[in-house]
Amino acid sequence: MIIKEIHLFQHELPVKGRAYTMARAEIRALRTVLVKIVTDGGLVGWGETCPLGPTYAAAHSGGAVAAIAEMAPGLVGTEVLPLTLQRKMDGLLNGHNYAKAALDIAAFDALGRHLGLGVADLLGGAAAQRVPSYYALGIAAPDDTVRMAQEKCGEGYPRLQIKVGGRDVEIDVAVVRKVWEKVKDRGVRLAVDGNRGLTTGDTLRLSRACQAVPFVLEQPCNSLEELRQIRSQLGHPLYMDENAVDLATAISAMGTGLVDGFGMKLTRLGGLQPMSAFRDLCAARNLRHTCDDSWGGDIIAAACVHLAATVQPRLLEGVWIAQPYIEGHYNPEGGVKIDEGHINLPQGPGLGVSPDESLFGAPVASFG
Ligand SMILES: [Mg+2]
Repeated sequence: MIIKEIHLFQHELPVKGRAYTMARAEIRALRTVLVKIVTDGGLVGWGETCPLGPTYAAAHSGGAVAAIAEMAPGLVGTEVLPLTLQRKMDGLLNGHNYAKAALDIAAFDALGRHLGLGVADLLGGAAAQRVPSYYALGIAAPDDTVRMAQEKCGEGYPRLQIKVGGRDVEIDVAVVRKVWEKVKDRGVRLAVDGNRGLTTGDTLRLSRACQAVPFVLEQPCNSLEELRQIRSQLGHPLYMDENAVDLATAISAMGTGLVDGFGMKLTRLGGLQPMSAFRDLCAARNLRHTCDDSWGGDIIAAACVHLAATVQPRLLEGVWIAQPYIEGHYNPEGGVKIDEGHINLPQGPGLGVSPDESLFGAPVASFG
């Protein structure tokens, strides 16, 4: 089975309600990039990548289109086998993992449809049919964050992530303490995510001032050097997110004991194939991690859930998807949804999502 055609689409995903806020960005709408591959047998596979605006990572929507267009002519005629495809892509373009991820996901989808297997089966087999999600509480006034935390607890989320940074750290300290005060008896776990926005001094202040609050501290500072500098002084487990830009960096962080876990995005690593290697390395070191993506619709959400279903449940921190923050679904049958803080593994071959292509308009580019 070979790739006969590749089609690229861009699609606007407005943020529902108020903006999604992090230490360094305020998001109101994002342009996702969708890839459709068609095989020589006429089977279709879908992939997606949606950078969280142009400042979250070294990635942006137009960059994904350009990178895929750079590789696509050389990929027509390639076998629809994930490792073969990764090798071929690496031979055509250095880096740009987030663009390669969309093609990798499309290949898994097509291969699953061809074999009549779900993507979780192709990734080694699901350990669970339902995975925990978590809710990210954006930067807001302390009382608003506390109210939202209580609401999300009530909806059944087993984990909440509080965004911090970009303002006086004393406000963040107050938010974390107040949220914990209100949710501590409800069995919910907390993460505090600085999205690279805290100084080393503010990170230490936050950790010390909230010593009595059990949370994992996610990517507080901007660089690996800053994380190394404060690691031994922190009173909380340290997780890496944005700095884990590729497998080599993640392996280093594991091997040197720099971190206790990861917030991981599958597009950042280059798709499901490298993410499955990351899963196995984390299992070997007994490290917990998430299976997220930064944003996107039902295709990327399904890919995250299929991968997450293959993680040992005790090591899975949760699966973040953008669904609660965006309107509608690609799949007329429903799509991927959070239900009582958890997500069911999509059923059927491939990703288990069949998008209504008419939503995406005409392709921005076609190859083959
Ligand atoms: Mg994060």
